[in-house]
Amino acid sequence: MTWRFALVIDPAPVDDTRTDFADTFTQIDPSAPALTVGELSTQRGDGIFETIGVIDGHVQEAEAHLQRLAHSARLCDLPAPHPDQWRQAIARAAAACGTGECAIKLILSRGVEHGPAPTAWVTAAETADFTDARDIGIRVVTLDRGYDITTPDRAPWLLLGAKTLSYAVNMAALREAKRRGADDAIFVSTDGFVLEAPTASLILLRGDRFITPAPHGGILQGTTQQSLFDHFRAHRYAVDYETIPVADLATADGAWLVSSLRLAAPITEIDGTPLPVDTALTASINHYLLSPRD
Ligand code: PLP
Repeated sequence: MTWRFALVIDPAPVDDTRTDFADTFTQIDPSAPALTVGELSTQRGDGIFETIGVIDGHVQEAEAHLQRLAHSARLCDLPAPHPDQWRQAIARAAAACGTGECAIKLILSRGVEHGPAPTAWVTAAETADFTDARDIGIRVVTLDRGYDITTPDRAPWLLLGAKTLSYAVNMAALREAKRRGADDAIFVSTDGFVLEAPTASLILLRGDRFITPAPHGGILQGTTQQSLFDHFRAHRYAVDYETIPVADLATADGAWLVSSLRLAAPITEIDGTPLPVDTALTASINHYLLSPRD
């Protein structure tokens, strides 16, 4: 990853009334050491993050990402992020992005044990080239996530609906998918329902309806999926949130993994079963996702 920019933030309390947060920011060299060894984000993965796409300097869906950051903070008992402070930090990072596609990361960590405050920082970096995934598509395998659909309600301390820094499980699932000859994975619950991918949401086409797994504590609410559903509704397509049995994957009329950086990757095969790919529809979806979105 080529880093372009990094900014350390001194997090302000959410009721701070000032309008300019410039003096809470310290720009640092993104390739130089910045965290202390006691940082709980590195020691325990104890923190939350957001990854935001920037296209030709336009920050995609900034408010949706800030809302999800606040939601994750609530679930993790972290102090609420001050929206204006983070907006200003995002604007600083976006200014370093230039043209083309870029990724901004927001990170809020519990900080240092017994330290004075949480630590927070924002980075900007170049993104990978996702052309093949968007144009040719991806092969996926289903992988057991190890919990049933009611687990998140019974065990909120698992933080299943929070975007925490603890992505070791998600990365392990991607490695397992590759070992099985696929490009990506779809997590399924132990009671046989479809959840999400390790770093993306799933959208299926069934007839002329787009569906996605119903929002519940076990999956992350995807900003890309929600933006696409708004777009589909505006174009009079039917969209629905459903509890989707795993068996329904093989009979879908189309399927995509969608996320902020890779955007929509059409699924060409699930567990070895080919799926129809509508190239024109996928191109129009990515055309929308690449347009400026708020
Ligand atoms: N689900 C998980 C587990 C993710 O990590 C991500 C993105 O990183 C998504 C879904 C898609 O979210 P978004 O569309 O906001 O990028």
